[in-house]
Amino acid sequence: MHPPLYFATTSEHKLSELRAMLTHWTVNGLRDVGIMDDIPEDGATLEENAIAKAMFLFQKTGRPSLAEDTGLEVDSLDGQPGVKTARYAGEERDMQKNIAKLLQALEEKPDRSAQFRTIIALVSEAGIRTFEGLVRGTIARSPEGTGGFGYDPVFIPESYERTFAVLPTETKNSISHRARAVTQLLIFLETSGESQPDI
Ligand code: IMP
Repeated sequence: MHPPLYFATTSEHKLSELRAMLTHWTVNGLRDVGIMDDIPEDGATLEENAIAKAMFLFQKTGRPSLAEDTGLEVDSLDGQPGVKTARYAGEERDMQKNIAKLLQALEEKPDRSAQFRTIIALVSEAGIRTFEGLVRGTIARSPEGTGGFGYDPVFIPESYERTFAVLPTETKNSISHRARAVTQLLIFLETSGESQPDI
């Protein structure tokens, strides 16, 4: 039995996705360690944000700590919204407004290709490591579906015809940016002597 993992998020959506992927591990979120507010994300890159959040949790708990940051990078918008994905249409992080702004920005663009990119950071006594996962796809012309969260209703992953919000959860969890970053993390956790016996 593995000791618990600590993950710097208060998002129940993210926790349930992570728990579905890390089936052999107990995954604790920020609320499980008494932290009720999300850690501010003011870095210039996904990497900076993920590392800052994992470092914060590591300093609080003294336990090996994980955090992730995800961005939607749209080719014809030069990789925007990128690190600003959550706040694309303003500080209130309103997903309907974010999606509306994205669809408007792409109205005249023939190229709707994009990618979700996730960086997971692991901070422990052994130092800092990062793991990347990405999924390519296209932005739909209008929102479709009610599953998932965030930009899922407008993201159609490569090789599929429907959005993440329509595809079954298991499909998203097997091909998503987050799943791919978690796979890299798992390979590290399960092969690296460095992470034992702490993780
Ligand atoms: P953060 O990593 O929680 O800061 O997320 C950044 C932004 O990306 C937020 O607006 C999320 O809603 C969005 N996001 C993160 N992961 C996903 C996903 O799996 N599907 C759709 N949107 C996502």
